[in-house]
Amino acid sequence: MKNLDWASLSFGYMSTDYNVRCYYKDGKWGEIEVCSDEYLKLHMAATCLHYGQEAFEGLKAYRCPDGKVRIFRVDENAARLQSTCRGIVMPEVPTDLFTEMVKKVVRLNQEYVPTYESGATLYIRPLLIGTSAQVGVHPAKEYCFLIFVTPVGPYFKGGFACNKYAIIRDYDRAAPLGTGTYKVGGNYAASMKPHTVVAEKGYSSEFYLDSKEKKYVDECGAANFFGIKNNTYVTPKSTSILPSITNKSLMQIAEDLGLKVERRPIPEEELGTFEEAGACGTAAVISPISQLDDLDTGKVYHFGEKPGPWSTKLYETLRGIQYGTIEDKHGWTTVVIE
Ligand SMILES: *Cc1c(COP(=O)(O)O)cnc(C)c1O
Repeated sequence: MKNLDWASLSFGYMSTDYNVRCYYKDGKWGEIEVCSDEYLKLHMAATCLHYGQEAFEGLKAYRCPDGKVRIFRVDENAARLQSTCRGIVMPEVPTDLFTEMVKKVVRLNQEYVPTYESGATLYIRPLLIGTSAQVGVHPAKEYCFLIFVTPVGPYFKGGFACNKYAIIRDYDRAAPLGTGTYKVGGNYAASMKPHTVVAEKGYSSEFYLDSKEKKYVDECGAANFFGIKNNTYVTPKSTSILPSITNKSLMQIAEDLGLKVERRPIPEEELGTFEEAGACGTAAVISPISQLDDLDTGKVYHFGEKPGPWSTKLYETLRGIQYGTIEDKHGWTTVVIE
């Protein structure tokens, strides 16, 4: 293993030794290529540059206390990328190819999987881009699918901690029947401005209501939202939310722990009734919300200064499964390095 100060890493980019690539040409995927170049040679008229034919995924490899390296629900990431491909008309990356490339890139860079004790992990970033030249608005004929990895620090320096968010109505992340359910860069481009606006006011992230009526809860920055009350885990249902694999897993764990689970529209007023609330995603697992400020109405929702008991239990259970310390009864993890 590289001798690095893993615990002081941030969520940034660090070079590793290899990335893996596969090219789509003449209607089929080629062989997996191992590459040590961090750069791409790209045609200036490539569709990814002009028309946003770009999709990505994000998952992690965990060095576990038993010495093994595990990945979590990789088939779900493959399936979500396939859904994104259908959404923006790109050829689907088969699950077997996706999984093989993820395992390969982790094994090639195993020196960079941080120690268990550090709380840091190896972040895995699959990227699919349209590469052939097109000036008219049409899907590309050729594509590059690549995966790189980079070690990332523990999301919370001071451990599992609460954050403040701000409801913002002046911007939308995604339209009701737009690309919100797909993991594409365009949605992130739309979030840069609202994110900057609330970050300047000292909030961790922006909080979106549905873009049509501004009545229902949508996403919590680039994470899904959940609230807990009366022994029920509630998460919003809408046509513009990215289906988070962390949220899907938390819904299952909540059920396993004896909570009821509801996935339905959540009116903004209902926020005041939750005992606990959090944002969830691969980066932090759960980022508990202490406070949510409505910047337009001045209303403030409080969910406690410390992570609540259910959020803590959900967080510890999911982390335990990822690190192989809690029984993986749903078969979510894959050992990549024994
Ligand atoms: C990636 C992402 C999430 C989290 O998904 P996970 O699979 O849990 O990492 C949530 N919202 C948006 C907008 C995302 O892009």
